[in-house]
Amino acid sequence: MPRPILLIDDDRLQHRLLQAHFKAFQTELYALDSASTYEEGRAKLLTGGYAACLLDYQLGERDGLQLIRDAVKEGCRTPIIFLTAETADHVDLAAMHAGALDYLVKGEITPRMLERSLRYALKLADTLEALRRLATRDELTGLLNRRELDRVLAEECERDLRFGHEFALIMLDVDHFKSVNDRYGHPAGDAVLREVARRISAEIRTVDRAARFGGEEFAVVVTESDAATALEIARRICAMIARNPVALPSGEMLPITISAGVAALPRDSRTDGALIAAADRALYAAKQRGRNRAVDFTAL
Ligand code: GH3
Ligand code: MG
Ligand code: MG
Repeated sequence: MPRPILLIDDDRLQHRLLQAHFKAFQTELYALDSASTYEEGRAKLLTGGYAACLLDYQLGERDGLQLIRDAVKEGCRTPIIFLTAETADHVDLAAMHAGALDYLVKGEITPRMLERSLRYALKLADTLEALRRLATRDELTGLLNRRELDRVLAEECERDLRFGHEFALIMLDVDHFKSVNDRYGHPAGDAVLREVARRISAEIRTVDRAARFGGEEFAVVVTESDAATALEIARRICAMIARNPVALPSGEMLPITISAGVAALPRDSRTDGALIAAADRALYAAKQRGRNRAVDFTAL
């Protein structure tokens, strides 16, 4: 299957020229698609369906630099190679600074150069993605790690306070988890953590983000929601985990329960740290009241 490459350029001639360059090397590796305006290019790029993007500097009223910044802000991860007629260094530098992985000067492009640039950009993008995963994900469960949770929470707090939106945080902690390790061994404990993580992910919406807070504690950031909605989700997670025993590596089915605490911003706090503390206090209350339940901070 050829990898789809997007060319964003308002000049039709450039498309034919690059198409010819593509033909000069293994065409079966890449399929060139094109967009001729800023808006069309932006829309196609943000589908995330392209292996790489060749982006022209000049795009009518707006320019390619703006498009890179715009796309990166929207979470675009597609590797971008910047095309410029300018030989002025600052444009190339600005493009790399904005997020482009390479740049080519239009008049100087040869098939070999284009192919090399594409191959390097694809490789670099794969490496960056692997690093991003390592930096943001918990290895055992695949959920967001603590550092990424902190970043997400800080970002949510700032944005939601500014726009007057609400969001809620669920803190979860597996009940009597130490005894799982003690009785069945650490690998069995790990299997339980992985399965609990999988079930938490299955119960939340795609816009919500689940993280491993540490040890056998998890957190869910419930975006654009009040505490009542989050409490409902938390109850669903608790019920789902209590209802279905977890398969241990030995094949034995082990019943597990989990407790949850819910707090909301701005209702219970106005900072990420205070929100975690509030959800944690609610979680502590859930443990005190007998475990296997979800408690709202306002019900304390
Ligand atoms: P409670 O119901 O009050 O939450 O009791 P608990 O036993 O779940 O809580 P406690 O904090 O006493 O024990 C947590 C245990 O989790 C202790 C620790 O060894 C274990 N743990 C932490 N991280 C991991 C891990 O990555 N894998 C495994 N298998 N165990 C872990
Ligand atoms: Mg704990
Ligand atoms: Mg526990």
